[in-house]
Amino acid sequence: MPALKTRFAPSPTGLIHFGNVRTALFNVLLARKEGGAFLLRIEDTDFERSREEYIQALMEDLHWLGLDWQEGEQAGGAAAPYRQSQRTAAYEKYMAELASIDRVYPCFCSAVELEVSRKVQAASGKPPRYSGKCAHLKPDEIVKKKAEGLPYTLRFRMPKSEALTFDDVVRGAQKFPSEDIGDFIIRRSDGSFAFFFVNAIDDALMGVTHVLRGEDHLTNTPRQIALLQALSMAAPIYGHISLIVDAHGAPLSKRSGSLSVQELREMGYFPIAVNNYLARLGHHFVETGLMDLDAMSSAFDQSHLGRAPARYDRSQLDYWQAQAVQQADATTLLDWLTPTLKGWVPEASLAEFAQAVRANIVFPHDARLWAEAVYADALPISDDARQVLDNAAPNFFRAAVDALGDDMDFKAFANRVKSASGTSGKNLFLPLRAALTGQTYGPEMPALFKLMGHARARHRLTQHVLASEID
Ligand code: GLU
Repeated sequence: MPALKTRFAPSPTGLIHFGNVRTALFNVLLARKEGGAFLLRIEDTDFERSREEYIQALMEDLHWLGLDWQEGEQAGGAAAPYRQSQRTAAYEKYMAELASIDRVYPCFCSAVELEVSRKVQAASGKPPRYSGKCAHLKPDEIVKKKAEGLPYTLRFRMPKSEALTFDDVVRGAQKFPSEDIGDFIIRRSDGSFAFFFVNAIDDALMGVTHVLRGEDHLTNTPRQIALLQALSMAAPIYGHISLIVDAHGAPLSKRSGSLSVQELREMGYFPIAVNNYLARLGHHFVETGLMDLDAMSSAFDQSHLGRAPARYDRSQLDYWQAQAVQQADATTLLDWLTPTLKGWVPEASLAEFAQAVRANIVFPHDARLWAEAVYADALPISDDARQVLDNAAPNFFRAAVDALGDDMDFKAFANRVKSASGTSGKNLFLPLRAALTGQTYGPEMPALFKLMGHARARHRLTQHVLASEID
């Protein structure tokens, strides 16, 4: 048995989105679980839409997510090059081989002709497939048409009356009658190679043993298997994972909230949050907590890949993000927050501040509210806090100012306020929080209190003493 090898084969025609990343993630998890390799191939056969910047962006995205590859673009390997635009020689070779065994033929049918034929078939309830009109042209007819300069595609001759079968890792036994598929184009009239052909040839030449890919490719698989069989090349094991759908059950699109990895990164999502969310879209894990890639790959099980469409839910993603923030190590947390808090929090207090607020933030900009609550010279006061302040016991803030000590030990301070004002519980803690932070909720008071320091705390409490005296 060759070592297991999975791959990710993106077409660099845009930024990578959720669905694509999940495909990469599952292939990484499977390879890691089995001690195999993960390969990155760039499917840039669409010359018009493929861009170098997208290739660079997708590699950056994969690195950011920790989805590193051991073979392929940048990494190199025995089957190099790994960009399809550089593999023409290999494709020519196998195209010639198909021609030599009469499994490929030129098709001169025009786009209009094909469209009409498709419509006729659809009207009679038949699967749309090529009529076979050019399948048996005589050699002299072909020469003549070519001499006339008629454009032509190359079609693969499907086996007749054969069932193409394979065991799909996710969807079980699959069977496609070859008649339903018909002869299909493997080379376009401009000389470019079709997806079916290059994708299948490359998987075989690169020794890919397992292909996990989107369900939208399921019907491509029998075509690819037929091609590989014709060339006596080994087909990988395929698994077609369920699509990701939006809240209405429609395929996830940019409009329905699909974000690119770049957008997620810019918004401040942690890679581990994205991975934990994605891994659970269409795969069931027993573990309900945050997992790193090692834990995820050990627990990955092909039989836990579900067939039902996976519903995208942004609040679930944010749930994992909150988990990631709470569990990030101190350095990671600080690196994540620092750019947003520069100028808001004194540099020397950044680490302590980060620890104090982590349970109350999901994104870096959430921390600004708490930075303001601790450090603002003119403290904004929320409506709720204003109400609490208005309802505080008489002389409460007088007692609070007098109770301030130099130690900034909140517990001791609150105890002194309690005895002096005769308040306790909510009536004690809420007005203190409201006066000190301008909010009625938030991070633990002891940490905020210590961070704001004596002078600021005194200033904030004093303001309410004056207010109550004026009343
Ligand atoms: N380039 C193809 C895509 O992005 C690859 C499909 C596959 O994984 O086989 O859809």
